[in-house]
Amino acid sequence: MKKSSFCKPRLMLLVVMFWLLACPLILAAGTDGIPQREDIEDKYKWQVEDMYEDISVWEADFKLLESGLVGYEKYEGHLGDSPEMLLNCLKLSDSLGVIDGNLYVYAYLKLDEDNRRSEYQELGGRISALDARFEEAGAFIEPELLTLDLGKIESFMKEKPELEVYRFYFENMMRQKEHILSSEEEGIIAQAAPLIQTPLKVFNMIDNADHKLGTVVDSSGKKIELTYGRYLRILKGTDREMRRIANDTVQQSWLRYINTLAATFGSSLEKDLFLTKVREYNSTLERTLDDDNIPQEVYNNLIETVNANLAPLHKWISLRKKVLGYDTLFTYDLSVSLVPEFEKKYSYQETKKMVLKGLKPLGKQYLKDFEMGLNSGWVDVFENEGKGSGAYQWGTYTSHPYVLMNFDSTLSSLFTLAHEMGHALNSYYSNQKEPYLYHNHSTFTAEVASTCNEAILMKYLLTNAESKEEKLVLLEHYIRQIDGTFFTQVMFSEFEQAVHEHLQNGGATSVDYFRKTYRDIFQKYHGPDLTVGINNDMSGMKIYHFYRTFYVYQYATSYAAAQMLSQKILEGDKKALEAYMTFLATGSSKYPVDILKDAGVDVTGPEPVERTIRLFGELVDEMERFLEAK
Ligand SMILES: [Zn+2]
Repeated sequence: MKKSSFCKPRLMLLVVMFWLLACPLILAAGTDGIPQREDIEDKYKWQVEDMYEDISVWEADFKLLESGLVGYEKYEGHLGDSPEMLLNCLKLSDSLGVIDGNLYVYAYLKLDEDNRRSEYQELGGRISALDARFEEAGAFIEPELLTLDLGKIESFMKEKPELEVYRFYFENMMRQKEHILSSEEEGIIAQAAPLIQTPLKVFNMIDNADHKLGTVVDSSGKKIELTYGRYLRILKGTDREMRRIANDTVQQSWLRYINTLAATFGSSLEKDLFLTKVREYNSTLERTLDDDNIPQEVYNNLIETVNANLAPLHKWISLRKKVLGYDTLFTYDLSVSLVPEFEKKYSYQETKKMVLKGLKPLGKQYLKDFEMGLNSGWVDVFENEGKGSGAYQWGTYTSHPYVLMNFDSTLSSLFTLAHEMGHALNSYYSNQKEPYLYHNHSTFTAEVASTCNEAILMKYLLTNAESKEEKLVLLEHYIRQIDGTFFTQVMFSEFEQAVHEHLQNGGATSVDYFRKTYRDIFQKYHGPDLTVGINNDMSGMKIYHFYRTFYVYQYATSYAAAQMLSQKILEGDKKALEAYMTFLATGSSKYPVDILKDAGVDVTGPEPVERTIRLFGELVDEMERFLEAK
């Protein structure tokens, strides 16, 4: 059955050039002033107790799952015996999946309230082990189903109409059947699994254990050991000399690993080519997209359309150069803000009000449910000692959604609430409408509900900005978001495609090859006004997501889809809103491209991408006008 019965915490928007959010954010220098959890009022905490009143109820479910696993024994080897056997096995898998999800999510939500609490560390450890046993116990189902032909399954569904709900599941599985090998061959591939993981493991060791970013000395003479968080703060800071030094230091630190990085990334590409060949696909891109049945034209169209429309991005870079007043704009000048210090603080109360006002175009029902969620223990608002960092939305099929925040009264927190609650309502609606096996969302569609909220809220904030400075801050926030979540991800996708194709066509990989390929594409996207520093071309070899093979393009496609949907909704198109609400209530009962098509977005064509680029261009123009008028 499906791999997991619940969705994993989602990283917030992937921010980009320095893949920072994939790394632990080490922004807070100390823990001074952070309250203990018990000092925070209950109304600002999520209610995990809605899942299990107390540990004894959790323990009872734990026992139930544990004893339920033996139930699989009678089905193994007999799924093709009769429709009843098949149906009962799938139903067992679903019901155990629901319990497994609840046990797991409860333990880790409780742990994230305060990661120092050993009783929840223990619960987490126990359910992780049982979850692995659950996966293992049901691991026979898919391989066994694949030995049956669709005709037989079809006749089972006729005999037993209750099996009909599994139709899409069966069809989706059978679709890839021609790429499944004989059981002996599959056995050999399964044995190679640890080897297939090696490139990523080595990269993680370099990135998280051995590699150190280096130290710099700040203007007061204090030595600072760089972390990703501190590096980012320096790059965002106005001290240009400090930015230059920090950038040099970090690039030098990577140079010491450069040959290892090239070999590791090269091995990752070779691993992919091996799997592509043994599974008889024409390319690694084709194999990867086939998992979600995404047509290749989605990928090609994304890259072609962006390549034909790079002018607005070049203009943004030129504007930066002009406003900053530099003769030469370097890579380390890309993160500093163009807007003078302007900081508006929003209390949580104000934030809720503004988000609700901003999201009005989504209609009464959506707002009602949104507000109900805010007032019903969905959100854990404030930071406390030991609490999980960042923000995410999580939950199970039978629970309400849970949103973790570390609210800090900034504009960023305002958008985070809209974003994560977008995920929350998406889960809330699809849990109501979909059967268990389709309640999750694919990566391809998951970010649409969250990003659409941000776009609609942004429109409201831009319209209601109270000063020129506020408007500029918002415009820059928006431009950077599109740059980071859309353009940069397309650039990454183009690089990925180039290096995979190069290897497929018999090309050799090397440090020089990776650096030159990355430099050329980076320069092409950013245009003639950016000078790429001598060592600022190594990113292609050190981005975690590239080890997940053709993953990042989905950030760009879902961003473009969300933009298009938000525009239609903002235009007051009633049908568009209706289709969007249906989209929100859909999990994975259809292929992602079809789900989006039903919502009114054809991601196989250029329109969503073109609309996003047009919006970007308009925002840059508006920013230019405002800056000139200052
Ligand atoms: Zn998200």
